[in-house]
Amino acid sequence: MAQINNIINKYKAKYSNHLTYSNLKRLERVKAAYLKRMLCISKCTQSRIAYILADTTYFIEDMMATHSLVPTPQSIRFLEDRRQKAKDINHRLLSTPAMTNSEWKKANYHLRHLYTRVAAHGLHHRICLTKGYHSPSNGCQCTINGGPCDTYHIIECKERTLTLFHYANDANFT
Ligand SMILES: [Zn+2]
Ligand SMILES: [Zn+2]
Repeated sequence: MAQINNIINKYKAKYSNHLTYSNLKRLERVKAAYLKRMLCISKCTQSRIAYILADTTYFIEDMMATHSLVPTPQSIRFLEDRRQKAKDINHRLLSTPAMTNSEWKKANYHLRHLYTRVAAHGLHHRICLTKGYHSPSNGCQCTINGGPCDTYHIIECKERTLTLFHYANDANFT
């Protein structure tokens, strides 16, 4: 019996050794894509934002735990890079309603997308003078108060009278 266990353990060590950094990256995309769909945010959203909103472990961590895989230099580096990227976010994301309130995480919560979309891109396109898809830049101007308009400006715009959810609702902008 001990021998068989040894063989299995050797296989596990080899199995995880064969996964290159880019293999791990491709595997991780599966969970990131699922999370984005579940969170009703665009697939172009940075995966780190989806992981932060869902407050969940990386697929590679899940896979390693499920199959008792031995950590390899590649998996260690991959997970370190992911954690580093998660730190490298716009920290105002952490004060969006999706992060300060967990109501939207309940089953069948109909307004979930309103919370997650504010967090994902700050609804920038809804209030920026520049129309169409673009990344917020220094030249962006708020159509409500005419001031500078960065990613999460809508949350703190002093002259905004309508709710965030008004701006998050597509039906108000068709
Ligand atoms: Zn803009
Ligand atoms: Zn404004």
